[in-house]
Amino acid sequence: MRVRIDLHTHSDVSDGTQPPAGLVRAAADAGLDVMALTDHDTAAGWAEAVATAAEVGIRVVPGMEISTELDGHGVHLLAYLPDPRHPALAAELAAVLEGRNARLPATIAKLQAEGVEIEIDDVLAAVAGVPAALGRPHVADALVARGVVADRSEAFDRWLSAGRPGYVRRYAADLTTMIGVVRDAGGVTVVAHPWGRTRTPYLTAERIAALAEAGLAGIEVDHEDHTPDVRRTLRGIAGDLGLVITGSSDHHGAGKEGHGLGCNTTAPTEFERLMERAAAARRATGRPVQEEYAWTL
Ligand code: AMP
Ligand code: ZN
Ligand code: FE
Ligand code: FE
Repeated sequence: MRVRIDLHTHSDVSDGTQPPAGLVRAAADAGLDVMALTDHDTAAGWAEAVATAAEVGIRVVPGMEISTELDGHGVHLLAYLPDPRHPALAAELAAVLEGRNARLPATIAKLQAEGVEIEIDDVLAAVAGVPAALGRPHVADALVARGVVADRSEAFDRWLSAGRPGYVRRYAADLTTMIGVVRDAGGVTVVAHPWGRTRTPYLTAERIAALAEAGLAGIEVDHEDHTPDVRRTLRGIAGDLGLVITGSSDHHGAGKEGHGLGCNTTAPTEFERLMERAAAARRATGRPVQEEYAWTL
């Protein structure tokens, strides 16, 4: 039987719409054998997801999608199995989450100044769980509930994307630094959707090579935001640099159309390479996350 592995999903502790337990059950129903939980900038969903995985007989890799930037360009960095108590990692995540919290009132103020009728309470009311990481999708849901737009996509296109009237910049960690921090915390890193949602990719082969030099383990090649051409090119870059190639759904529950669980998957051999890198980081740092979350190779 073919093992099905999806290494990028969101629950409602960030901007997905299912609680971690419900997400893991849905992953089992979708026929996945391995699912990574990668909420934005938080490990808050790990314990619930891992406990449910044991119940339904699949494996959950504890992970997160960290908001970083390289010379002012935003990059999403997937981190698997880092110890969230590692001081440098904990400090960076706290700074990012603080930036998210501070951005909400600033976003609401900008929207109100544009004449949009929306309050912070609309956003809090539109949120399904108790999110550890508030994001623009939560504002988008409130705009939908208010009848301002039809869906999250329209909310981003009209109001929330960079350059639109409701956009507010927030703090992100330095990408190269964060690759080292995650490794020091016993984890491994993969750049999420490196050429997604852009016509002129900032992460050129040269820049990806420098990241590999800094300790990056892999790049997410098979993602819905990548065309077949982009996937082919990225696969070649990963091959040249010896980087692990991953594939995933970037599932957000009902929050993102066309990103069903398992719509892209990671080859078992690539997954093994990634977990070997994680085991090496774990041995080098003595960080106990993999035992603690019942993770074994
Ligand atoms: P934030 O974390 O607040 O910066 O918002 C980024 C999140 O919004 C990511 O998880 C994306 O999945 C989501 N997102 C970004 N652009 C769009 C879009 N055009 N439509 C729907 N969701 C989007
Ligand atoms: Zn998201
Ligand atoms: Fe992302
Ligand atoms: Fe994501």
